[in-house]
Amino acid sequence: MSVRRAPNPNRNFPSFCPYCAGEELYPHEGSDFSWKCGECLRIFEVKFYGQDDADVAPAPAVSTEEALQNSLRRHGHDAVLRTIGHTGGNA
Ligand SMILES: [Zn+2]
Repeated sequence: MSVRRAPNPNRNFPSFCPYCAGEELYPHEGSDFSWKCGECLRIFEVKFYGQDDADVAPAPAVSTEEALQNSLRRHGHDAVLRTIGHTGGNA
């Protein structure tokens, strides 16, 4: 009998039991994904199935120079605004 299994790269390690929030968790021989809670004695699995696409993509970040010029424009410092060619900033 082999005590050690082959490594499972998809195995996840919970910090807390999902039923009683106990921290006394041990791997269980039931499957490659199962854990046993030493406090409530439940046996459960933790699996990662994938990731959905976000409903809304975040806007691309502006450069430091663009952010500075936007801030100056927003606060009315028109005298120090510079012309930025590719962003259409005003002079
Ligand atoms: Zn538990």
